[in-house]
Amino acid sequence: MMKKGNMLYEGKAKKIFETDNPDLIIQEFKDDASAFNALKTGTIVGKGVVNNSVSCKIFSFLEASGIPTHFVEKLSEREMACRKLDIIKVEVVVRNVAAGSLVKRYGFEEGADLEFPIVEYYLKDDALADPLMNESHAMLLNLASAEDFVVLKSQALKINALLVDYFFKRNLKLVDFKLEFGRHHDKIFLGDEISPDTCRLWDVGSGKKLDKDRFRFDLGDIEESYLEVQKRVLAD
Ligand code: UDP
Repeated sequence: MMKKGNMLYEGKAKKIFETDNPDLIIQEFKDDASAFNALKTGTIVGKGVVNNSVSCKIFSFLEASGIPTHFVEKLSEREMACRKLDIIKVEVVVRNVAAGSLVKRYGFEEGADLEFPIVEYYLKDDALADPLMNESHAMLLNLASAEDFVVLKSQALKINALLVDYFFKRNLKLVDFKLEFGRHHDKIFLGDEISPDTCRLWDVGSGKKLDKDRFRFDLGDIEESYLEVQKRVLAD
């Protein structure tokens, strides 16, 4: 049994704790929600439980499919044990269908299928409002090397192919999602979470949005939608 130690960090949706093993941390998922760079905040009751169970299930699926992830084990309703990563401050977004900032920034029609997936990079920096950037920006900021980007991009596209299929089998369309990676003993692992907070997921039949957009745009049925995603992801 690992011992939960001091809190290392508190983010918008999670708390990170050290453990008695220097290689491991505990992620604890909260019900707090934020959007638009924390301009909008609130609570989604039960979200932490959903995001932990969905993340644990998806990380173990990815791990079994050959993707190195930080996931070690589910500890409780809201806690997962993870390898301790040195997070690379690059948010990797993969898109299959036009939505969100892609529509706003470039004028794609919302819901349009993209002929091939788009991979985008954002600087993980709240004070700068996570600006869109390319590999040169990231390399000049010493965040990642050209070799690191080969790994980030190829892993992101592999994860996308696996997850599009995984969600489609559960009647969910994976529109887009955000990944974070980190280093652990010189190797790059997938970190953070994969949940309705970080993915756009639409019901295949009706197109109903079942993700954080319900909170962002006050669409109602927020808790029910998160629970619906949990039900479909955990069903096997
Ligand atoms: N995303 C995220 N965290 C962020 C920014 C984006 O998890 O800080 C996710 C978001 O939920 C969506 C995808 O990345 O699934 C693409 O987001 P987009 O660029 O459209 O920005 P948004 O309009 O969601 O802010």
